[in-house]
Amino acid sequence: LQEAQILKRVVRNRLEENDLKACRILFNRLSEIKGGHVDLHKLVKYGIGFHHAGLLPTERKLVENFYRKGALKVICCTTTLSAGINMPARVVILKDFKRFVTSGCNIQDFTGFFENGDGFSYFKPFSPNEVFQMLGRAGRPGLDSVGYGFVLVNDVQERMWVEDHFFQGFSLNEKLLPRYNELQSGLNNVNTLKEQVLLRIFEDPEISIPSLVKFFERTYFWFLVSKKRSSKWKIPIEQLLMIQQILPRNLLKLHANPRRLQQLKKGNLKTSISGITKSSIQGYVKTQYGVFTCSLDIDTGIQCSCGFQNGMSDKFASQEFAFEFCDHISVFLLRLLNEPNEKFQKFVNDLVPKTIKNQYILTYLIEKGLVKPTTDNKLKCSQFGKLVIRLYLYPTSGVLIRHKLERDNLSSYRSILKAAYEVVKSEGRARGDKMLEPILDWADEEPLETIMERHKVMAGDLYSIKDNLSRIVSFFGIVAQHISISGLDVKDRMNSIAELSETLRIRLHYGIREELFDLVLRLDNVGRVRARTLYDAGYHTSDAVRRENPYVLSRRTGLGVNLCKSIVKNQTRKKNIDT
Ligand SMILES: [Zn+2]
Repeated sequence: LQEAQILKRVVRNRLEENDLKACRILFNRLSEIKGGHVDLHKLVKYGIGFHHAGLLPTERKLVENFYRKGALKVICCTTTLSAGINMPARVVILKDFKRFVTSGCNIQDFTGFFENGDGFSYFKPFSPNEVFQMLGRAGRPGLDSVGYGFVLVNDVQERMWVEDHFFQGFSLNEKLLPRYNELQSGLNNVNTLKEQVLLRIFEDPEISIPSLVKFFERTYFWFLVSKKRSSKWKIPIEQLLMIQQILPRNLLKLHANPRRLQQLKKGNLKTSISGITKSSIQGYVKTQYGVFTCSLDIDTGIQCSCGFQNGMSDKFASQEFAFEFCDHISVFLLRLLNEPNEKFQKFVNDLVPKTIKNQYILTYLIEKGLVKPTTDNKLKCSQFGKLVIRLYLYPTSGVLIRHKLERDNLSSYRSILKAAYEVVKSEGRARGDKMLEPILDWADEEPLETIMERHKVMAGDLYSIKDNLSRIVSFFGIVAQHISISGLDVKDRMNSIAELSETLRIRLHYGIREELFDLVLRLDNVGRVRARTLYDAGYHTSDAVRRENPYVLSRRTGLGVNLCKSIVKNQTRKKNIDT
């Protein structure tokens, strides 16, 4: 918001008559929205907007649409916009490469932290992958031949830091290469891929499977993949993208560790096929550690008695697009491919892909009800699919939320919070359950220092988990409402979950119990600590504070007189709880 306010006049001076007209339309549409963001609709008249997780879904959608149309020239946004959706820009400016800054005494584990240069504070930067994912939005396919990405720095030291850590090569020749050669655009992750496919189907009502494939052939992702792979490793794009079934031999080409596969090919591990049915094939692999049972089954998937999770690698951090198989399954697959019998090969080519079916992007989207194939071979987005897109959710997260709403007993704050935490974990934004108890303490108004001390966690981590959780919790509420429309039998239960979620979201956002809602939401300059002070001094409502004389208020609460004056004076303006 701050940045948008600063830029607005510059942007406005460049608008043409028809831009102004379009912006006025957007202004009118935004001002019709109940509970909308006051600052947003005032700003759009200048041709500039902002975008963060706190906006209403309709507001976000309007901002995006009018940006894509070109009416809005600039969007100031948080990482939510750059991480999720197809919003290409000509220029992307990263205002701060420091994810957050904290004092040294808050840090237990210094890995990933860097000194700020002031002798006591430290910062955590965005990872190179994150930075290039954001900057990679620059350059609109089909519209611009180039895109520009900027990273803003405050001084020479910061500039050097950025060059050293995000780029390789020398800055003298003015050519900087991204540090990570392996980086292959955000599509390199199965969650993002599902999202992008869903988005394409959403955006193009006439889309069919062939045109979907064509679209991805034009992406930077495919450009890099096809450049990198030698002809020996080449596989068709629809198989690589898992839009269509993948041949078993291509499956092995995508093995996460090709060298290991070569070794296994040479080694002479004994294998045998022990059983074949119409929908499965079983066998044994004998190693020096024992005999392992391998099973490829359409219903149960790929399984090995060693317990390894065979399937697509989904490492969020490393962005590897590959399959991970245990040695036994790898050897077993090699054995299946080497059977000379033609009829058997046909069987294998048909069966094996089906055993990894929930990895297929399209199959997944269709089976989970996000996409509906039509009779004329087109693909359509379902209501649920559209909802997932509007919420900036990964399809897998949307499906997980719906699954938990339908299957789990979500009747308490704790149960909803735990379910939301699972979703945050599945998105790779949290590891382990370490942050669950600290977050519960936070919502119970424990002082920040106490939480950090008790659970040995850092403030930055707590805040980032808290933000992610309140985002997901609000989606539990929205998806619950969506489900409640679908049937009378679930209506009451879903509506009550939606209410619980909304309350929990506010509790998480502000770190307060319900009794403080009125004070925190309706009074300016009042957060969790001051609200508790006011409440304990007998002021239970914002009205009670409003009616009080500032001097009396100060005496009874111990808060400064000037502060009390400002609290009492500014009470009439209702806070937008999302900012
Ligand atoms: Zn195994």
